Amino acid sequence: MTIKQFFGGVHPQENKISRHYHLEKIFSPGLLFVHLSQHIGKIAKPLVKQNDYVLKGQKIAEADGLISATIHSPVSGKIKEIKDFLHPVIGDKLPVIVIENDGNNKSIDFTSKYKEYFRFDNNEIVRVIQNSGIVGLGGAMFPTHVKLSPKKEIETVLLNGCECEPYLTCDDKLMQEYSREIVEGLRIIMYVLDAAKGIVVLEDNKPESIKKMKDVVSHVPNVDIVCVKTKYPQGAEKQLIKTILNKEVPLGGLPMDVGVVVQNVATSYAIYNAVVKGIPLFERAVTVSGDINRIGNFMVPIGTLVSDIVKTLNIDITKTNKIILGGPMMGVSVGTMEVPTIKGTSGILFLKDRIKDYPFGPCIRCSKCVRVCPMGLMPNFLSLYIEHEMWDKVKFFSPKDCIECGCCSYICVSKRPIVNQIKFAKSVIK
Ligand code: SF4
Ligand code: SF4
Repeated sequence: MTIKQFFGGVHPQENKISRHYHLEKIFSPGLLFVHLSQHIGKIAKPLVKQNDYVLKGQKIAEADGLISATIHSPVSGKIKEIKDFLHPVIGDKLPVIVIENDGNNKSIDFTSKYKEYFRFDNNEIVRVIQNSGIVGLGGAMFPTHVKLSPKKEIETVLLNGCECEPYLTCDDKLMQEYSREIVEGLRIIMYVLDAAKGIVVLEDNKPESIKKMKDVVSHVPNVDIVCVKTKYPQGAEKQLIKTILNKEVPLGGLPMDVGVVVQNVATSYAIYNAVVKGIPLFERAVTVSGDINRIGNFMVPIGTLVSDIVKTLNIDITKTNKIILGGPMMGVSVGTMEVPTIKGTSGILFLKDRIKDYPFGPCIRCSKCVRVCPMGLMPNFLSLYIEHEMWDKVKFFSPKDCIECGCCSYICVSKRPIVNQIKFAKSVIK
């Protein structure tokens, strides 16, 4: 077992309190709010209209161009309406398809003719993945079919099982309960990319998953497990590539520039389901955790409102004052429970925010943020110049290379909101 490190990073309290909870199916609510934008790229185009009847797994919206993704119904029922509704990441109203669940769980025929995927042309397998609406489930939501059609030769596929965000444990549980399927998904990815090597990377705080994945991988040629020290943001693509392969993705470049493709374990599981079982992506594993009475890992139909999850699980939120979708470092804080899950929702955290709102202080030049920045940026100068809107200076310090990991804000003794400032600067410069 090799233990390796990358530059920078922080060690936030792990709080993986839901790690021992098995993946449970959660009920499908009466109404589902399925967003047409659940991916990087163009909003999908609806294929249904009001009062249409749809089956579980039926395609209800199609990708608009290459950088887009198809959407499938998570339940059977009637299309109630298509309207604008709050988006959990963008924070604005965007189109959703509202489906009235009839509770009959009637689905399309899920049989797949691609069980022996290696007998088919790899482009055909990519089309199956594209038609199944798969996007990066680690949170990035980049359409997977695009990542699987690189213009360069790929030597290695890194399967990211680090799950370095505090609280989140759904990938950990997936690896324990669906290890064989995840490794088979990796082999499909390797086949499609004609990659010689597959490496599953886990942090050393997941002993059960390491054991399970090792058991499976021991029978699989050209696939290895590498265990890395627990450190945030271990799961970031560029950090993972540097740590495992000692290769540096050039500034402004992509992993394929160094012959690598990185996929998340949940995406690999979705690829297995799509190719081998014929099941498109309409539900995902989500960690529900925080300062609440009911925590766990759940298979949640995409489009389920946070308020419905709270009702179903009888969650007492009276001691909490913050809801975060995703992890506490990179997730998005939402001000309402009337917001639905999307393909990128890996966690729903209900937290008692112990840090009271107070104005941030001046930079005391301690340089802690510089020492933790995994991208080797100067967050202190970025913060300062953004605060004073000195955009030429801001550009000089290359905010576009920031991966928005939040390490700088986490470590800053003056509680400067550096990552939020950088996000703002990126939008201004764009
Ligand atoms: S500047 Fe960006 S990449 Fe560097 S620590 Fe801050 S958020 Fe992370
Ligand atoms: S950590 Fe905060 S106070 Fe210290 S140098 Fe960075 S911005 Fe300044």
